[in-house]
Amino acid sequence: MDEPVVQHRGSCLCGGVRYEVTGPLRASSHCHCSMCRKAHGAAFASYGNARREHHRFVSGQALLRTYRSSSQVTRQFCSGCGSPLLWHSEGAYADLVAVPLGTLDTPFDSPPQKHIYVGSKAAWVEICDGYPQLAEE
Ligand SMILES: [Zn+2]
Ligand SMILES: [Zn+2]
Repeated sequence: MDEPVVQHRGSCLCGGVRYEVTGPLRASSHCHCSMCRKAHGAAFASYGNARREHHRFVSGQALLRTYRSSSQVTRQFCSGCGSPLLWHSEGAYADLVAVPLGTLDTPFDSPPQKHIYVGSKAAWVEICDGYPQLAEE
């Protein structure tokens, strides 16, 4: 069987953790929920979805920590530098993982994007692009 083709690579701020994605990143979303804002220390968190079996950490696994932010959701991050590296829900989309787009080292031709959980948006953020805005997801 052919080796799967790596379509994306990414890493954390310190470079200790590296990952590969052997499939497309789809459904790019900017999440304004309070948990993503806290986890990323940012106005919102931008993700692309990959199939779970297409994503693998290729170095720095010992640095990875997993935080369960709600009953079904886990967030993995680098304990060396704090970069968020993976979001996963055991709910309806358990076969997908959400990759924080800011950690990509490869070019990413943006697919259609959307803003989600805009109902929780920080008051100081104004969304100025034309992408759809959903109150939740
Ligand atoms: Zn790191
Ligand atoms: Zn969120």
